Amino acid sequence: MDINNLLSGFLGAVIALILAEGWRLGLMAWERKKKREIFVAYIKNVIKPGLQAYIKDTLALKTDIQTYPNHDTIYNHHKFNMLPSLNADIFKELGFNELYFLTKDFDLHEKVIDIYHCIDYLKATMPYESHQNFIDQCDAHFKEKGCKTVDDLIAHAKDCVTINDIKLVADGNLNLRLDSAKSSLLSCETIMERI
Ligand SMILES: [Zn+2]
Repeated sequence: MDINNLLSGFLGAVIALILAEGWRLGLMAWERKKKREIFVAYIKNVIKPGLQAYIKDTLALKTDIQTYPNHDTIYNHHKFNMLPSLNADIFKELGFNELYFLTKDFDLHEKVIDIYHCIDYLKATMPYESHQNFIDQCDAHFKEKGCKTVDDLIAHAKDCVTINDIKLVADGNLNLRLDSAKSSLLSCETIMERI
């Protein structure tokens, strides 16, 4: 084999390598582009409506708690959205490293991680669970005080410090979740605008 053959063989190998690398990078860029589109659609169609429903339910629950107990809040429960769509599985599936490449921006990446943790936090206590916890605590107190009828407990709750405290704590907890949900909703808007 003369030097020319050797050289062309070597060049051929180098060109093949460059092409293979170019193909790999192109494929990766194409995949990222696709993944980015799916991620933005997920934020828009799953996360955002999920957060909006959570906020709506929490606001309704706050009103229920403030006016509890009366015949409406006892008999006519707000119908809570079970929010099956509020989940951050796609974040886990993509992984935080890949999400960094998808967002292409340190600040946006941080917002994505915040949304992920916020959803975990919100899901730990859904509005219908907050509602049930509140009712259980009030019921336990009414029982302790010997209230038997709805009118008994409405009359008792009028000047009851314990029921007022239960309301204050429940409202405070709901405010914390509301703040988180609202801030994540803003982050969703920013991501959809800038990604
Ligand atoms: Zn009492």
